[in-house]
Amino acid sequence: MQRLGRNLNGYFGEKIPIDDLLRDTLNAAPQHGWTLSFLDAAPGLQLPVLSRPPLTSSTWSPRLYASAGIHGDEPAGPLAIHRLIADNTLPAHAWLWVCPCLNPTGFQRNSREAASGHDLNRDYRQPRTPEIRAHTAWLEGLPLFDVALCLHEDWEAAGFYLYELNPDGRPSLAPPTLQAVAEVCPIDQSPLIDGREARQGLISPVLDPANRPEWPEAFYLLQNKTRLSYTLESPSDFPLEVRVQALATATRACFEAYGPSPNPSHPLSQGPTGTSTR
Ligand SMILES: [Zn+2]
Repeated sequence: MQRLGRNLNGYFGEKIPIDDLLRDTLNAAPQHGWTLSFLDAAPGLQLPVLSRPPLTSSTWSPRLYASAGIHGDEPAGPLAIHRLIADNTLPAHAWLWVCPCLNPTGFQRNSREAASGHDLNRDYRQPRTPEIRAHTAWLEGLPLFDVALCLHEDWEAAGFYLYELNPDGRPSLAPPTLQAVAEVCPIDQSPLIDGREARQGLISPVLDPANRPEWPEAFYLLQNKTRLSYTLESPSDFPLEVRVQALATATRACFEAYGPSPNPSHPLSQGPTGTSTR
């Protein structure tokens, strides 16, 4: 599969009509058991969020979270969420929370930043933007997550890759996720991706969010909501359909890899208090 060669110092690929896409996603969701609500970020600025309890009785119902669309020039994320919701392919035995688009004003402008000029994915330490204030206030009211995913795109990447934040050394979901994605999209095999050491598409950064002044969503989630998070990056110099498939496949595979039965080494199976305030 060939790169398109469109992206020169930024993303120059397809744009999406975000309002139409979100309307389609939100219309499809209730048919499959989802509850829809809107976070009031500011006058005229609402963020849709979806939640769903387990649809099948199961002794083990993991709590899974996914967000997309925090960068307005990364269209495959909201498209992948739409596909997963409309095709109803997310696990039925799990608790699910999904944010289909965290930065609608960025998509209206096809810019990474929101209309206010802020990169929302640097605003999670002490949120100042209305979007992230509303998002974190909503997250605070939710239970802890067993796994949290953030769907992104990278205009420079040579293939799909992911970041794993797994400070307690839990069983990694990266190998089965990357294996599934490899069926639909090339994996970035570079030894250095985004300035970090990578191994066959997996970046496991060693970091302490406490020492970082600007937090992406993944840091907030790690500090407050989960001990296992993945930032999924599709390569936005490839055809859009490939990237949508990559992100949808990765989300499904990662959630499925978490397993249909409890595992004592999973982050929250030892109780709900294991993480939050570090
Ligand atoms: Zn991004």
